[in-house]
Amino acid sequence: MAVRHVGPFVDGRELKEGGAGFADVVNPATGELIARQACCDAACVGQIVRSSERAFHSPEWRRVGAAERGKMLLKLADLIEQRAEELIELELIDVGKPITQLRGEIALTASIVRFYAGAADKIEGTVKSTEGGCFYLTTYEPYGVVAGILPWNYPLVNAALKVPPAIAAGNAIVLKPSVETPLTTVALAKLCLEAGMPKGIVNVVLGSGSSAGNALVAHPAVRKISFTGSTDVGRHIQKLAADRMKMVNLELGGKNAIIVFADADLERAAQAAALSAFVNCGQLCVACSRVLVEDSVADRFLELLAAKVAKIRVGDPRDEKTLVGPMTTKGQYQTALKYIENARGEGARVLCGGGKLEMSGALRNGFWLQPTLLADVKPGMKVHDEEIFGPALSAVRFSGEEEAVRISNSVEYGLSGSVWTANMERGLRMIKALDTGIIWVNTMLTGYPQIPVPPRKMSGTGVELGMEGLLAYCKRKSAMIGYDDQAPVGWGL
Ligand code: NAP
Ligand code: MG
Repeated sequence: MAVRHVGPFVDGRELKEGGAGFADVVNPATGELIARQACCDAACVGQIVRSSERAFHSPEWRRVGAAERGKMLLKLADLIEQRAEELIELELIDVGKPITQLRGEIALTASIVRFYAGAADKIEGTVKSTEGGCFYLTTYEPYGVVAGILPWNYPLVNAALKVPPAIAAGNAIVLKPSVETPLTTVALAKLCLEAGMPKGIVNVVLGSGSSAGNALVAHPAVRKISFTGSTDVGRHIQKLAADRMKMVNLELGGKNAIIVFADADLERAAQAAALSAFVNCGQLCVACSRVLVEDSVADRFLELLAAKVAKIRVGDPRDEKTLVGPMTTKGQYQTALKYIENARGEGARVLCGGGKLEMSGALRNGFWLQPTLLADVKPGMKVHDEEIFGPALSAVRFSGEEEAVRISNSVEYGLSGSVWTANMERGLRMIKALDTGIIWVNTMLTGYPQIPVPPRKMSGTGVELGMEGLLAYCKRKSAMIGYDDQAPVGWGL
């Protein structure tokens, strides 16, 4: 396969170089070099942010109203569907996702874009009062230039979580994909241009987080940062942003639990656990990486679950029957492998998998791991407490509601949780007791663009998706307008 070039995207043009040399882009299924990416130095990042600033302040963008921005996003959604094959191919070779999963991601991406297309002209301010000679108004305005920093696990979907609300609200956005997976981000920026967004409104910075990403976050003209990635980097970004009082949205790690009570439909719960722990090879922030199961049904449930995990088809992302592909990066492959290997030393018992997966032919140099189910896991063990971000599911036993809540809440993350029970009163009690931003009851991983994702604890701050996710891209303003000589001057004077 010919090695492609991918470059930073600015003012409607892909650059040949960015001043900081080139980085390899690798297909994780084969280990093969697929692209050389031109990385940005701080000067190039500055040039890109200035282009975004110019585009934001341009008369051309000022004239585009909310309904018009909505139309551009509708066009973008159509283009994503029309170019689905191209986008799928890029994401498949770059991220290693199975083709069937990618078809679902295209549909999801288009639906998020359409949601924000419809929402663009529904941002409403308020009139608080018209008494005492004054109108008191609140309104929303775009920030100007915002930054969207992306992880490597869902590059296209994550870009769709940031570009549409940013554009709907009237901003210009600079995206920074992971240096591991830049291909669909640049492709999406090109589609934005084709959808009618003026040059410079959607730009892309390429390069590593520690240099290009850092320069973007620190740039004084960037007024808001929407970041999705690890808790460690999120913490660093929040500190950096604090120097200039920038708004920050952080969608970070998770250590999410499925809680299975004895009265649950065990078959469906086992299916949900197997799917949500291993889809995308466990590289999903809301993946279930712990299954807490009530003592009295634990043996039966684990038998059901182990049988399902053993049947998961790991293999060539191009194969229609593949459910799970490779790990996306070599670094994450090594990290997850170390967690799995260390789990035995911590006292965990391997029920399925347990290490590397040897592949043959073209796949022999890819980053392959076995779906791994671990029993006898307890809070306090690293495999229980820390995010692995790989195909490892830890099973923990509990006795009664109180203990389930205590174990579930014992980790420092607070992204999502899932409860399986036939008792709806208990379901409601669990919704109140669990300290996570998302809770599913008798379902798992379901979501819609209109439902906000509000992470808690070390899983992040702010909100993505829904109308609240749109308002996160707007500054507030309060205005008081005197309309006769009753209008007061001064507060309480
Ligand atoms: P990461 O290492 O934190 O990187 C995320 C992004 O930040 C990458 O583009 C990275 O660039 C960039 N970055 C790194 N250092 C930076 C800095 N100093 N300044 C600015 N940008 C910087 O995370 P990842 O390994 O890509 O993704 C996995 C993590 O993301 C997991 O923890 C997962 O839970 C989390 N995640 C969360 C959600 C959610 O919605 N809550 C969704 C998906 C993933 P480079 O990679 O190019 O260096
Ligand atoms: Mg790659």
